[in-house]
Amino acid sequence: MLDKPQENGDAVVYWMRMQDMRILDNRALEGASKCARERGIPLLVVFLFSVGDYRAHDRSPRRVDFVLRNLNILKDSLAELHIPLHTFTVEKRKTVPNRIKDLMNEWDVKDLFINVEYEVDELRRDLKLLELSTAAGIRCSVYHDRCLVQPGQIKTKDGKMSSIYTPWMKQWSSAIQSHPDYFKEACAPVANDPSVHKHSMFGPLFHDSIPDAIPGFECEDADKMAELWPAGTDAALKKSANLGDTRIGQYEDQRVRLDMDSSSRLSPYLATGAICARQCVRAVMKKHSNDTFNASRGSGPGVWIQEIGWRDFYTHIMAAYPRVSMGRPYHEKYADVFWEEDVDGKILEAWKEGKTGYPIVDAAMRQCKTQGMFPAPWDSSPASFFMFIDDLILIGYMHNRARMIAAMFLTKDLMIDWRLGERHFMRSFLDGDLGSNNGGWQWCASTGTDPQPWFRIFNPYLQSEKADPQGDYIRHFVPELRKLDNKGMPAEFEKLGYPKPIVDHKFARDRAIRRFKNVGEE
Ligand code: FAD
Repeated sequence: MLDKPQENGDAVVYWMRMQDMRILDNRALEGASKCARERGIPLLVVFLFSVGDYRAHDRSPRRVDFVLRNLNILKDSLAELHIPLHTFTVEKRKTVPNRIKDLMNEWDVKDLFINVEYEVDELRRDLKLLELSTAAGIRCSVYHDRCLVQPGQIKTKDGKMSSIYTPWMKQWSSAIQSHPDYFKEACAPVANDPSVHKHSMFGPLFHDSIPDAIPGFECEDADKMAELWPAGTDAALKKSANLGDTRIGQYEDQRVRLDMDSSSRLSPYLATGAICARQCVRAVMKKHSNDTFNASRGSGPGVWIQEIGWRDFYTHIMAAYPRVSMGRPYHEKYADVFWEEDVDGKILEAWKEGKTGYPIVDAAMRQCKTQGMFPAPWDSSPASFFMFIDDLILIGYMHNRARMIAAMFLTKDLMIDWRLGERHFMRSFLDGDLGSNNGGWQWCASTGTDPQPWFRIFNPYLQSEKADPQGDYIRHFVPELRKLDNKGMPAEFEKLGYPKPIVDHKFARDRAIRRFKNVGEE
């Protein structure tokens, strides 16, 4: 409930962040809209380009470009509701709370609305903002919007964050099933009454322009990205609807496949908030009824919702254990794992360039590094042909299994510090999300929750058989191997101009197990 206002001020402000970029089903925006209506004053939306934060979080130029594209669409949708969008850039992240507070004072705003960002720097920034706002007589309303279940709500019997996924997931599933939000329709903000602008200073802000690029974050393949990943909520809803009955029905069986359209490709939209997890889950639950949860692992929709659960899980971990987003392992014990030194950086470079001599790892890493164009087509077998449909092989993105294979190889086969891989992915992808990226890396490196270092070492050849049985994904991204049939062995690699394996997998596996066993001693 809102406080009884002492002073209305001249406007209500919703500060939109780069993770909640939508109009529909946005809690802080809904709250701000309601407040503006009650006060009879206009609602303004503010968006700030915090360049210091982009640098500190290794935001990729593609991610920043996607933000700008989403913002252009939002600006038009907000204009239809007579809601002005004001944008500005701040270089130094520490100055952000003061800049916002000064702006509120300048515009005589008494009510500010935000959705929480759970990254530790952002939490600190918002605490500072709360302190400054309170002192300046500005009411600041803060909402939990990113997760399906609010961080901190799933606890063990002794009141701690439940950090083992399976029991956490059980509680998470029942929390959703009993939460009324998943059975009501999404809310949109109410349009400003255009007449309220007439007497205020906010009308001209309709024309605030959005930059084409943020200096230092220019995207080299912006046109290709725009073609592959159209921005906005409508594009996200279209992708979500694409899951249909068939694809989601097959999700449990096919979700590891790299050579098929086996997953939703919604992650960039979820990461920017163009669509929210509530909307996705609500749609699936509506279509597939309550069996979604009861069927659990036995149902495609159930398994898909549990993947959304991983996103919540890692955000909860990040909120409860801020050290994970500060470069520390979840398990402090594994801070002392002995990683290879790689003095001249050649091992890391071979991984980044997709030249490890392990075809499935190299295909994944070449997908990661592809800029702007796909590799040239090879021969015309039907299987090869369908690989050229843009929807199947995307750039600026990698399938979950490809990320796992690449991350596990870097950390277990090459014994290179997971933080280097974490940064590289963050700088490469459109869907860079600190919680999920960190959680994924720590899971693969066995430094995270439930680490299992003795078992969690992928065999790249077996992974290849499961995820890419015909070798189509490999042939697409590793042209040297296009002439090789599925059974092609490392002995043939060199004459095809493809590198020999950088390390022997059996040796590497034993080394990784030994290093984890003797942590701190070797
Ligand atoms: P679907 O299979 O259709 O899943 C639906 C949604 O569920 C995804 O869009 C995503 O929001 C969520 N999800 C699925 N799997 C996971 C998971 N394992 N962890 C967290 N959320 C999940 N995801 C990101 O959104 N941003 C990242 O920066 C990111 N980095 C990762 C790094 C590593 C090393 C690993 C192993 C995983 C990472 N993931 C990340 C998780 C996952 O790979 C992607 O979310 C998924 O590949 C996106 O494809 P999709 O939308 O088709 O997923």
